[in-house]
Amino acid sequence: MGKPASGKGTQAKRASDKFGLCHISTGDLLRATAGDLRVEVDSYITKGNLVPDELIIRILKERLKGDDCEGGFILDGFPRNISQAEKLKEIVKIDKVIDIEISDEEVVKRILGRRSCGKCGSVFNTHTFRPQVEGVCDSCGSELVSRADDNEDSIKERLAIYHRETESVLDMYTFVKIDGEQSIESVFGEVLRALD
Ligand code: AMP
Repeated sequence: MGKPASGKGTQAKRASDKFGLCHISTGDLLRATAGDLRVEVDSYITKGNLVPDELIIRILKERLKGDDCEGGFILDGFPRNISQAEKLKEIVKIDKVIDIEISDEEVVKRILGRRSCGKCGSVFNTHTFRPQVEGVCDSCGSELVSRADDNEDSIKERLAIYHRETESVLDMYTFVKIDGEQSIESVFGEVLRALD
């Protein structure tokens, strides 16, 4: 759990590589949709709104059926409101909840600096995690781009939704809180301790 750009995706990817767990980012699942569904999904995402619960739950349930999820998984970006959390309880048992905390000011700074690789999905940041060559992905050499929803209007909306709907989800869990404004390595060290 965490605000947009708190480092959830980065840490979830590292932990999934280390433990061989499947990394399920609901944002990535939505960005991977195609055709009419993609048009519908984009109408929410680009404005910074949440897609309807029913849609994301359907997509998540389908993803959880994957063979690679049998040994366990890390959820990144779900649940984002109380009704999603209630639904999740009916689907699976969650063993551990980690909340990565950063300030709203840091969210804005990071989101405006975020650059992703359109080809392999690696994520960089002009403030905190620069690629070796500006605008070029370290992993595959493709061009780095900003996400369509990483603009100032959408950031305000995403933060408002976080405070209005997502923050209270934490009350439903016993969770480990981690300061997300440390280096990526230090945050990962705490993630590992939390998972131990
Ligand atoms: P993320 O990649 O986690 O920042 O998510 C990007 C966007 O995808 C969000 O701003 C929402 O529009 C949408 N999204 C991701 N996860 C969810 C979710 N659990 N429920 C509804 N919308 C979601």
